[in-house]
Amino acid sequence: MDDVISSLSVCMQCGACVGSCPVTGLNNFNVRRLARRAYFGWTGQDVLKNDVWLCLLCARCHENCPQGINLPEVMVTLRQQAVKVGATPRMITLMKSNLSKYGNPVGVEAKELISLVNEVNLPKSGERLFYAGFYLLADHIESMVKSMLRAGVKVDKVATAAAILQRVGLGGLLKAAMRGVGQSYRETLKKYLLLLPKLGVEVSYLYEEEPWVGAELHTYGLLDEFAEHAKRVSSFLKERGVKEIITPDPISAMAFKKLYPEFVDGFSVEVKTFIEVVAEKASKASLELKNPVGAKAVFHDPCMLSRYLKVIDEPRVALSSVPSLNLVEPIRNKQYTVCCGAGGLEVINPSLAREVSVKSVQNLLSASPDLVVSACPMCTMMLKLGVEKLGAKVEVIDVGDLLWNSIA
Ligand code: SF4
Ligand code: SF4
Repeated sequence: MDDVISSLSVCMQCGACVGSCPVTGLNNFNVRRLARRAYFGWTGQDVLKNDVWLCLLCARCHENCPQGINLPEVMVTLRQQAVKVGATPRMITLMKSNLSKYGNPVGVEAKELISLVNEVNLPKSGERLFYAGFYLLADHIESMVKSMLRAGVKVDKVATAAAILQRVGLGGLLKAAMRGVGQSYRETLKKYLLLLPKLGVEVSYLYEEEPWVGAELHTYGLLDEFAEHAKRVSSFLKERGVKEIITPDPISAMAFKKLYPEFVDGFSVEVKTFIEVVAEKASKASLELKNPVGAKAVFHDPCMLSRYLKVIDEPRVALSSVPSLNLVEPIRNKQYTVCCGAGGLEVINPSLAREVSVKSVQNLLSASPDLVVSACPMCTMMLKLGVEKLGAKVEVIDVGDLLWNSIA
């Protein structure tokens, strides 16, 4: 913890982080000022209860910092301090208890979550594992976020969200959310499961036994809990003989690839994103996409993919193989992508998260596309909210759906 805060000693107060931060201008959040206060130990209740929870961990500031300061890491450290003094938003407490009770943060039985993909017949064991991650939970998260937006959580402080929850009751809100839950992300998941054999990639899938990656524990500063959870998941994967993970979910990919080796001694599972697998096939000319998708498309680089995992060229290589797809670029792209507004903020302050998604969509619209291609279920969810808010005439599609349309 001390090392992370000490890294702020080389800060030149240049403000490049503030200029790159998508939350800047939407409220009083100022990452440079927050980092300064953290360095001097001036993090009072106002900071720990509010400001530290408004960051998306999108790492745009880190990408632009001339001193290479890892501000997302600073944020996680400050959240760890906030957790220690009990300044944790209620939604996080609920997610934590769901995880221990149901094995996932949304609080739905695994059998129910996988009911749609149950009919896809893949082996349940094997060295190369397909991991669904947030594709399994996104329908429920979207429903919850939309419910909170309807309940009127405003762009303000975390305390406002807490007050709304107090008024409508967290249980009532979640029950209402679960009534309207869709299954579009699980439809997409099913296509991913069907696509891999078509691409000649053999995988196993654990169905209801898939252990939850637990990335949100790290996001919200519950580092001891994350370490314990990651160790349990790691032992389970070892028992099942898993040596490689392929996942379309960049959040899970980042957690398995970057966080697990840091928190679990000897974690050595190879991790690849689905889009990397497709790009490999495309560059070896062994990808046969036959159906044209006549559209002007822009790819939204997810922060996890472009900044954390440095997977930048691969989505473009994969999409270039789709017949009749005209791929164009927005003003800010690749490692300078504008975060979709998720990163955990979607459940802490959905209204603020949606304001960020509007900025992200505005950037994508700079390329005048008729299709926005996403490679992350949380990005898809937020970009759809941004498009709806702006009333923009553009369709948001997951890359799995797009490839399915071109191959099936
Ligand atoms: S960009 Fe880096 S050096 Fe500049 S103010 Fe922010 S943290 Fe400090
Ligand atoms: S990680 Fe993203 S949201 Fe957080 S301070 Fe940096 S730029 Fe802003």
